[in-house]
Amino acid sequence: MMSFSRVARRFTRHAGHRTAAQSAGTKPQRRLLSDARTGFVIGLAMVCQTFLSVCKSSEPEPAGSPEAPRVLIVVGPSSHPPGTHEVAAGGRLMAYSLENSTNLTAIPTTVTTAWPHDTELQRGIDTVVFIGDEFPPHKLPRSAEILADLDEMMGRGCGIVCIHFATGLREPDVTADGEHPLLHWMGGYFASRCSHHKSIARIFADAEVTPATVDHPVARGWQTFQLTDEPYIENYFGPPGHAERVGLIEFATAMLPPESPRRQVVAWGIERGDGGRGFGIVMPHYYRNWGLDDLRTLILNGIVWTAGDEIPDDGVRVEIPDLSRFDPAESRR
Ligand SMILES: [Zn+2]
Repeated sequence: MMSFSRVARRFTRHAGHRTAAQSAGTKPQRRLLSDARTGFVIGLAMVCQTFLSVCKSSEPEPAGSPEAPRVLIVVGPSSHPPGTHEVAAGGRLMAYSLENSTNLTAIPTTVTTAWPHDTELQRGIDTVVFIGDEFPPHKLPRSAEILADLDEMMGRGCGIVCIHFATGLREPDVTADGEHPLLHWMGGYFASRCSHHKSIARIFADAEVTPATVDHPVARGWQTFQLTDEPYIENYFGPPGHAERVGLIEFATAMLPPESPRRQVVAWGIERGDGGRGFGIVMPHYYRNWGLDDLRTLILNGIVWTAGDEIPDDGVRVEIPDLSRFDPAESRR
């Protein structure tokens, strides 16, 4: 389902076309010149043209394709050592990928370390991507206002994505039974040191991540891959029956931990009743793993899917430069 902002942009573009056609003088207008009642009609047309021109000049077309969705990447605080998390570099890498994909119309992307307390700007966003240590709205100033803004954005069908530790909620963030809006916006979360549920953070060597769906757009263009990383396990998807009720979509699973393997969901999504979509993925912990084509494609697919855009048959592709290009702290050591 198309989000409100995309519908609004299509309407604006349509109004713009009408203005341009009238300025050029269309055939129907020229035929009207032979009509005995031309005076009144021409006068009315001039008024309409002036009105539409004013509307157009006060609402300039945004750069890029008017069809393209808009992505906001919010980089939250992080205290992890160089080479791990690297949230700022990860944000820049995602933005580069969305704007330079080789098989997708460029998606205008804004990267920020501060929440934009700007309602107009928020209304133009099709999906918001969080990367940081724990769910950034709880780590940034004015948390309650950010959550209220998000509630409004989600209510109009905006998408939401959380990467690795940004999927994390702690005990003070949730109610005693684990209730939190993120559970409904995104379908689940990493319960970090919570008493109602204990998710696990641990480095696994050569973990195998497998697609859990084959016929979903997010499954396009990536295959089973191995990585040494910290994919959180035992993630929380609500009380018994909740995942089934909300139609949780499992995108990727891994059999972990190695000593007592269980099927773990490490990437998931949800299509909400408000028309919005959520996507959560609990990797990558190590910055170098952004270099894995399969993992990166899965993440980019998830972002594009939540933005309401089409995913190409071979997934969102990008020729990624050397990872040091995005200025991770590890390259400055
Ligand atoms: Zn980590």
